[in-house]
Parts: sequence; C-alpha cells; structure tokens
Amino acid sequence: MTQSLTFDGNSVSMTARRTAPTPRPGEAVIQPLRLGISRLDRDAASHGFEGVLGHEFVGVVQSIHGGDPGKLIGKRVVGAINTCCGECDLCARGMSVHCRRRTLLGLDGRDGCFSDTFTLPASNLVVVPNAVDNDHAVFAHVLASALQAARQLTIEGKPYITVLGDGPLGLLTVQIMAKLNASVRLIGKHSEKLGLCEKWGIKHRHLDDIGRRADQDVVVDCTGSPAGLVVASQLVRPRGKILLKTMYPHEAAPSLLTIVRNEIEIIGSSFGPISEAITLLTHREIDVVSLISRRVRFGDAESAWQAAASPGMLKVLMECRSDAAKAA
Ligand SMILES: [Zn+2]
Repeated sequence: MTQSLTFDGNSVSMTARRTAPTPRPGEAVIQPLRLGISRLDRDAASHGFEGVLGHEFVGVVQSIHGGDPGKLIGKRVVGAINTCCGECDLCARGMSVHCRRRTLLGLDGRDGCFSDTFTLPASNLVVVPNAVDNDHAVFAHVLASALQAARQLTIEGKPYITVLGDGPLGLLTVQIMAKLNASVRLIGKHSEKLGLCEKWGIKHRHLDDIGRRADQDVVVDCTGSPAGLVVASQLVRPRGKILLKTMYPHEAAPSLLTIVRNEIEIIGSSFGPISEAITLLTHREIDVVSLISRRVRFGDAESAWQAAASPGMLKVLMECRSDAAKAA
C-alpha cells in the first residue's frame, strides 16, 4: 500500500493506494526521507490543483525506468520540481523551465512528493553530499527560489533592498540579499520571526512601523499574499524594481496609476537553481535550521498539514519511515 497526502478538491487527507506510482521512461522512483510543507502547497490546493500534495523533499532513489546512466540508484537526492517536454519552441531555446507543456511536482499537472514513493525525471535530480544532512537538504527548493531573486538583480552602487514577508522564503531571501553589496532589510509582521534577523545581524522592521516613502531601489515581495504587491508598490522608488515571488492571483492589485506614473518595473521571480542551493547548504552559509518550527511523522501528515497553517509557524517538516529505519 502507498500512503499519500491528497487533496480531492474538497479536503486534504491521507489516502492509500494499492500500487506505487509508475515511472515513465527516464523517471526515477524516489522514497522520501524528509518533507517540508510550504504555503505554496496550500495555495495550489485552493487554486484548482487536485492530487498528491507536496514539492519540498529529500529522498533516496529506488529505481529508474530505462537504466541508471547517472548512477543515482541508492543516492540521496533533491530535485527541480518542473518537468519539460524537450520538444516545444521554449525547450529548443534553452528555456525548458518555462516549457509550454511543463508540469510542477505537487502544484500543477503532476502528483507531488507527500507519498511513500513518488516519481520525477532522473534528469531533475541533484545528489546531496554527505556534508548536507536531511534537515538542511529539505530546504533546497525554497533556498533555490530565494537565490533566483538575487540572480535577477544587477547590483550597482549599494542599492536599498527591502524583502517583504517573514515566512521561510522571505527569511532565506533576506539572508542571501544581505551577502550582496546592498543595504538590506526585512519587513514582517511577527516579532519572533523578526528576532531571527536580529540574530543574523540583518536590519528588520515591523510592517506597522514603516513609512511608505517610495524610496527603495528594489522590493522583493515574499509575502505570499495579494497585499504584498500593494505594499511593495508603495515602498519602491520611481523607476525602481519589484521582484514578485508571490505566485497566486493578485486579487488586490495595486493602483496601476502608481506603477505607470512611477515607471516601476515588476519582474516575476519563480523557482531557482537547485544545485546552487545545495552548494550554499554545503558551505553552511545560510541558517535554515532556525526556520524549523515543528517535526511530525509522515504518518501524521494530516495533523502536520493543519499545524503548518497556524499563525507564527515557519517550516513544518515531516519525517518519513525510511529515514527512521536508516537512522536506527
Ligand atoms: Zn517543452
């Protein structure tokens, strides 16, 4: 039996299937060791995704359909969550991350990783070095997303950068931005999360304590909330940039008057380079462990899902049976 945390269009529950997921040619079957619950999982479920949830994982490759040229079987891996067709015009132009027929693990068109086993193309996988334990490796996806924001910036003359949002993505993004030649601050709503910035020596302010002076060169919206873009448009200077990492529909769009009159550039910023994230984790340059709020066994995934939605929670990790067996 394969247990999976599934959204059926109405509710989220553990479901059992008699057969394990079947890999297509080139796909690996992966047994997760540790899983992370993200706000994106919840947003996907509330915006039409149905199926097995989850996209943050570190796991072990069990098998690969059609051979194992990369010698991945038995290795501990993380992986890029987007799959591509390899045939469309965008794939041909080297933009396979934006493939016209792409699927996203547990978010769009493809069952996710909150399952005893799941599949992903072997070419998406990155081997995790021994120096990176499971608690760190499980953050590879969200850290890669934070890295992507930094990759999209050209830093000139020590710019003012504000990261909006004190969830895991915001707290990782601000740690990465703080390494750039820039004046960086985080704006959030939760004093205990802002306290982490204090520990890291990064400037931070409460959302209620800031002026809206339109003086920031760059604002990175990591709020996950439609209101984030509105606040970002109030903080960014004329001809400044907003990097938008909030994925789901922006019901409360900002006044387009501000965007047009101030000639603001809004740049979408999506997922990032998993292998670079693993390199960063190998060097222990980013604190991810402080973001772990709770650990729950995968068998109790339903309660983990509920816990992850509580206010003030950062990352809820699920520990899988295979991990416990290995540790024993
Ligand atoms: Zn394609």
